[in-house]
Order: sequence, then structure tokens, then C-alpha cells
Amino acid sequence: MDQTNCVFCKIAAGQIPCYKIFENNAVLSFLDINPISDGHTIIIPKAHYESAELCPPEILAEAAKSFGAIAKAVTAAVGAPAFNLLCNNGSPAGQVVKHIHFHIIPRRENDNVFARWPKYTYPDGKAPELLKKILAHF
Ligand code: AMP
Repeated sequence: MDQTNCVFCKIAAGQIPCYKIFENNAVLSFLDINPISDGHTIIIPKAHYESAELCPPEILAEAAKSFGAIAKAVTAAVGAPAFNLLCNNGSPAGQVVKHIHFHIIPRRENDNVFARWPKYTYPDGKAPELLKKILAHF
């Protein structure tokens, strides 16, 4: 998806309406149009970058600076004691809108919004081998 067809660029440009929660020069936050829970919020850098690894760290930092205040207001408004902060980064990870964004999803005990994901243990030798490969790409 290029910038011209990007729904979040259009929201940032004021061409598509949103329920705006927060805005500064670098960042915009608004209610998700199809929430997972009441108060489900999207935070975007206004500049178009598809994914985290393509986004300059300074811009990611601007988004990160806003997380706390936005989450505090949203969770207080809906009376949620917790929230998930997540980024679906790339299609296989569930990213649909190809403009990097972060979700704040208010959560409650036993709300069944989503379950804990399946986990496993590395077989012997796998973790150090994997670490070596990761560090070779660093
Ligand atoms: P993702 O799967 O991480 O790409 O999620 C994209 C999110 O953007 C979804 O939760 C959508 O409901 C949300 N979304 C898409 N279009 C709009 C819109 N016009 N206003 C608010 N949220 C939107």
C-alpha cells in the first residue's frame, strides 16, 4: 500500500474523519473503528512508514512517548485495569493497514478478548545457535 492509498495517511491529513484522542506534530491517536474492546485505540506516527524496521527510531520514540498518557486516559474512561499494547508488524503478523501503528486494547480479568498464545521450550542447543544467527545479523 503506498502513501496515496493509505487510510491512516488520509486520517492524519484530515481527509477521513476519526475520533481523535491525541495529536502533536509527529503522532496521532484515535479510536479504532472496529474495536476489540471498548476504548481500543490506534496510535500512528503521522509520517508514512510501513513497518517498525523501516521507521526511523526518532519517530518510533515520538509514538512511544505518547503511550502512557493515552493508555491512562483510555483505561480510566472505560474502567479497565489493564491493556495490551501491540503492533502487528507485517502481514503474517496480522498487519492489515500498512502504515505502522500501535494498538492499545483495554483488558479485564477473564474478558476472553484473546487468549495467551501457545509457548514451547527450546530443545537443547537451539537457543545459543539461534542467538549466534541473530547476532550475525545485528
Ligand atoms: P492491523 O491489523 O494491526 O493492521 O489493524 C488495523 C486496525 O485499523 C484495525 O483494528 C482496524 O479496525 C483499524 N482501522 C482501519 N480503518 C480505520 C479507520 N478509518 N478508523 C479507525 N480505525 C481503523
